[in-house]
Amino acid sequence: NSESCDPSSFLRHFRKSSATPVMLLRHIAQAMATEMQEGLDHPGERKLKMLPTYLECLPTGNERGLFYAIDLGGTNFRVLRVQLDGKEGRILKQESIQVPIPQEVMTGSSKDLFGFLAKTIVQFVSREADLGFECVALNQKRDIGFTFSFPVNQTKVNGGSINAWTKGFSISDGVGEDVVDQLEIALADMGSVNTKVVCLVNDTVGTLAQCRYWNDDAMVGVILGTGSNACYVERAAAISCWSSPPEADDLTVVNIEWGNFCSELLPRTFADEGLDADSLNPGQQEFEKMIGGMYLGEILRRVLLKMAEDTGLFGSEIPERLTKPFSLLTPHMSTMHGDDTSSLEVVGSVIEEAIGVKYTTLATRKVVYDVCDIIAERGARLSAAGIVGILTKINRCGDLMLSCLTTPNDTEVKKTVIAIDGSLYEKYPKFRNYMEDAMKEMLGEDYANNVTTTLSKDGSGVGAALLAAAISTEL
Ligand code: ADP
Repeated sequence: NSESCDPSSFLRHFRKSSATPVMLLRHIAQAMATEMQEGLDHPGERKLKMLPTYLECLPTGNERGLFYAIDLGGTNFRVLRVQLDGKEGRILKQESIQVPIPQEVMTGSSKDLFGFLAKTIVQFVSREADLGFECVALNQKRDIGFTFSFPVNQTKVNGGSINAWTKGFSISDGVGEDVVDQLEIALADMGSVNTKVVCLVNDTVGTLAQCRYWNDDAMVGVILGTGSNACYVERAAAISCWSSPPEADDLTVVNIEWGNFCSELLPRTFADEGLDADSLNPGQQEFEKMIGGMYLGEILRRVLLKMAEDTGLFGSEIPERLTKPFSLLTPHMSTMHGDDTSSLEVVGSVIEEAIGVKYTTLATRKVVYDVCDIIAERGARLSAAGIVGILTKINRCGDLMLSCLTTPNDTEVKKTVIAIDGSLYEKYPKFRNYMEDAMKEMLGEDYANNVTTTLSKDGSGVGAALLAAAISTEL
């Protein structure tokens, strides 16, 4: 129809279908809270997996001694140690190394991979005395926290079997085997008997643990990076599949795997549908596909392509590069969105560099800027709704959502800190501002003062070492 031929009416329509008014966000938050409860009540059977971590403690700041962490993410392996000195000295000393995982290890056998990890650990541990770290007593093992960012079926705090190798790893075996056992066998093969993995966690848990070390009010850990996920502090008694939970009042941490949240309430557009259909995992990770750094730039590309086709946004030709999936990345989007020049020069140069369109009018650049704004605002506000959903679940959302408050005592106002890591939060200021503003809108100015979001950088490394310390201190 004639409407679809005009960029400004296309934009108006797209803005409307991406809208996230505060009442919708509140409903989404409520739906997230409901799904979280469903996932807890029906382990493994609902869209939110609500994975137990089996942690029985979190860092308090009182921990002392030398502790290690290892972090196996996508492309690098990190080994790290911290020397802790209780609340007075805190983190006295910290050191880490990071090594790229060689291609032949990423595509070899699991024995190759764990052998490589063990070798790196043994080399790193052997240098502790030279560097002035206080040594661990001869009869005592070095406790390690292990951050493992692949799907695992966790069965205890320091063990779980690998569900699948993802993220460019194509290891020929190892699925179904215990990650920690395999590492400990490899360490023993190297002649190292002085290390012990005391916890297996994912990056959200590390992020929360790092923040909790400094602040008892930290209740939620969120990753807003390539993908998105969150964890939170829950009562141990809520974990129905835990065969020997600690005391009913004790706390633990649950990994929500919130990326897989889906709901009719989510404001999806043609771009989300296309992205999902062409993805490696159609029908899955609906929420993550609207907020993750891997996807925002691709949503932008799809919208601009459709505008090029339907409205001639870039003239009579369709720019060739715009037809290539992932030719626009989220950093392109945040660079354009951060353009504060009156002539939108930065937008112009990104369009030239990434899409290959040399000349654009100011009107076209303004349209591109607005599309970035709409996509980022939607992603940020949905992330805020996810966080408020968690606050709803743990009764820390104020009196605006009375339905979630079970007893009058729960209305007592508690300070709550949300620990966040990831480039979208750290390096995309407009995304972060939209998210924080949406939380204020949802919670109300007054109550929002009790809720703080904070960057918990590098939690997947340090956080795991702090957890290892907390566990050793508890024992
Ligand atoms: P990861 O989640 O992979 O551990 P990050 O938190 O750094 O690592 O997130 C990487 C994601 O963030 C990528 O999808 C990338 O496109 C995106 N990203 C990186 N830098 C920026 C930026 N300045 N603005 C927006 N997004 C960014």
